[in-house]
Amino acid sequence: MTCVYDAVVLGAGVAGSAAAKALADCGWSTALLDRHRFPRHKVCGEFLSPESQGTLARLGLEEAVKELSPSRITRTELYMHRGGAIAIPLPGAAYGISRYLLDAILLRAAETAGVLVRQGMTALSVQRRGELYEITARTGHGNGTEKLLARSVIGAWGGAGLKGIVREGLSHAAESYVGVKMHYRARSDGRSGQSGSEAVELYFFEGGYLGLNAVEDGNLNAAALLRRDDIPASHRSVAAMLEEAAARHPRLRERMADLTALPETASAVSPVRISLRPVPWADMPLIGDAVCRIPPLCGDGMSMALRSAELCVTFADRYLRGGLTLPQWERAYSAALMREFRRPLRWGRLAQALLGSPLLSHALPGLARAAPWAAAGMVRATRLSARVLKSHPELKGQ
Ligand SMILES: Cc1cc2nc3c(=O)[nH]c(=O)nc-3n(C[C@H](O)[C@H](O)[C@H](O)COP(=O)(O)OP(=O)(O)OC[C@H]3O[C@@H](n4cnc5c(N)ncnc54)[C@H](O)[C@@H]3O)c2cc1C
Repeated sequence: MTCVYDAVVLGAGVAGSAAAKALADCGWSTALLDRHRFPRHKVCGEFLSPESQGTLARLGLEEAVKELSPSRITRTELYMHRGGAIAIPLPGAAYGISRYLLDAILLRAAETAGVLVRQGMTALSVQRRGELYEITARTGHGNGTEKLLARSVIGAWGGAGLKGIVREGLSHAAESYVGVKMHYRARSDGRSGQSGSEAVELYFFEGGYLGLNAVEDGNLNAAALLRRDDIPASHRSVAAMLEEAAARHPRLRERMADLTALPETASAVSPVRISLRPVPWADMPLIGDAVCRIPPLCGDGMSMALRSAELCVTFADRYLRGGLTLPQWERAYSAALMREFRRPLRWGRLAQALLGSPLLSHALPGLARAAPWAAAGMVRATRLSARVLKSHPELKGQ
């Protein structure tokens, strides 16, 4: 007889693993699929914002993350391509932590909570069959497929989308970028001792930007977002693209010259589209980057992924208990998500536009020095606000 899961989560990034664990914690039989095997390197600035820590704590994941000894980050340093710099304190300490370790530990937490984890399994389609969903997935590297049945499905497949399901969301995406990342070791002669610094450094240049911060082992993660049509055809490797980024910013070039690349940590993703409109539901609830891809420079993508997982599972639990119909779940979750994400999305887009404009970015350091409260306010505005998190009418009576 075919097993029917209460929930199947498609994608085991931060959003998917967190959601699957939360569902299992509520007592629901849950399967979690990912096309990759873990641990794996992933393109990300690896800056886990202060705002994400409350969500991690509520999901029972805070201790597991702390045990990885993440680096501590307390301020943002912005370096403009014409030489100006702005330092902005963060509203609390952020973590620098590799996705290699973070995603693996979240997956393990889900497994420990009782989730059936299927790695190397690619979801191909999701069909509604009466009261159930039928998920067709490819297993391993061959052409073999398997079908799973579930009472509910959550889409957590990240920004790329699942063929035929989130086209609507992506069709609103603007420019397309290449994302690359690689870890670097600071030179032992002490010249690049800034790796011990508590800053996330953001360098802006023509055609993109690069973030640099320490991760758990004291190495530095460099992650860049580069306009696709701006990369010379000869630059095929991650190292070549990061060198190209450094060549566009004198201060960054100097900084990178002092670091030794660790090629085994390299990772790339293309295209990266910054979505302009969140899509919380597409035949099923979506969480994390599947909802929308915020400008990475906000450094809040993982926080929003975790929070959307938490919100979604609150309603999934009620649905599975029979307290909500599917249309009620859709309405309540969509409204709650839009209420929380609207403000950080709006400000994130504005920040991206300001910092990407050569003219405005030239004037920004002077403006930030004249009105430091405005710069700090801008950073706060791109984040999920703790106040908004607590004020959901949908969540009353939890
Ligand atoms: C250059 C760059 C820098 C960034 N820097 C930061 C930062 O510093 N801080 C921050 O908070 N955010 C940052 N982000 C954003 C952050 O990486 C994302 O917001 C976050 O990874 C979203 O998590 P997720 O779980 O929704 O998706 P993902 O982490 O993308 O996970 C999706 C998972 O789904 C799997 N999957 C996809 N399709 C299928 C399928 N069909 N079947 C099965 N599995 C599937 C994938 O293998 C993947 O493991 C950055 C993004 C970029 C591009």
